[in-house]
Amino acid sequence: MRPIPRLQEALSPSSRPVRRLDLVACSGLSETALRSSFSEIEALYRSVDGVLSAVSNGLDLPCHRGCSACCRQSVFLTPIEFLYGWHWAQTHLEEETLEEIVGRGIALYHEHKALIGSLEEASHQKRDAFEIARGLRFDCPYLGGDGACRIYPARELLGRLFGCSFLSEGALYACSLVEAHLQGRSLPFPRAPQMAQMLRTLPLSSRRQVYPYYLFHLHRESASLDALPWLVEETVEG
Ligand code: SF4
Ligand code: SF4
Repeated sequence: MRPIPRLQEALSPSSRPVRRLDLVACSGLSETALRSSFSEIEALYRSVDGVLSAVSNGLDLPCHRGCSACCRQSVFLTPIEFLYGWHWAQTHLEEETLEEIVGRGIALYHEHKALIGSLEEASHQKRDAFEIARGLRFDCPYLGGDGACRIYPARELLGRLFGCSFLSEGALYACSLVEAHLQGRSLPFPRAPQMAQMLRTLPLSSRRQVYPYYLFHLHRESASLDALPWLVEETVEG
């Protein structure tokens, strides 16, 4: 894994990046803990991808690059997954692309502020947020113009599971294309909620929110680079 740049490196006078952040400071974790969490996420994603590849082998799923309906709804992820994805983004993407992603994320946050706020409220009160989440639909800020994910290797766990897992007995966690394709087959798919539990051993993993929420809180004007309380509050369960 590439090193996690600290703020002082990121802000070198020759190239003062606007959107590249000191994620160690933002996370409130030590550099060692953050680095180790990122390594664990990488290992977990590799292992999950291996399982999903095995269980979907031979099914000829209709998923392909650019088929992105699953990225045009509300996708939930934990803070540590978000930080890992942003670390990947700010390590691999150009500044203009980061700027565009942040701009879209903040605009989406404002557009859907009421529903995102309702999600927060429901999760603070330990209420089921499913109905609210169903009404929250938007194009993921990480989607590129070609319909492909711009952080594909670092995308969230639930995105990986979508299309080849179950939510509960007989209830596919998938889009209608996949459902129609797999109708009537006996499937060896894992349960998404159980797989999602594997993240719980990591720090900053006890809640889930949507990308615009994280992008807004990390990049809004006057955002603090100190450990941010919104990363650690207990809220949405996946
Ligand atoms: S899960 Fe559905 S929408 Fe997503 S890539 Fe596969 S077929 Fe396309
Ligand atoms: S991060 Fe990538 S895979 Fe996840 S919802 Fe956004 S575009 Fe889709």
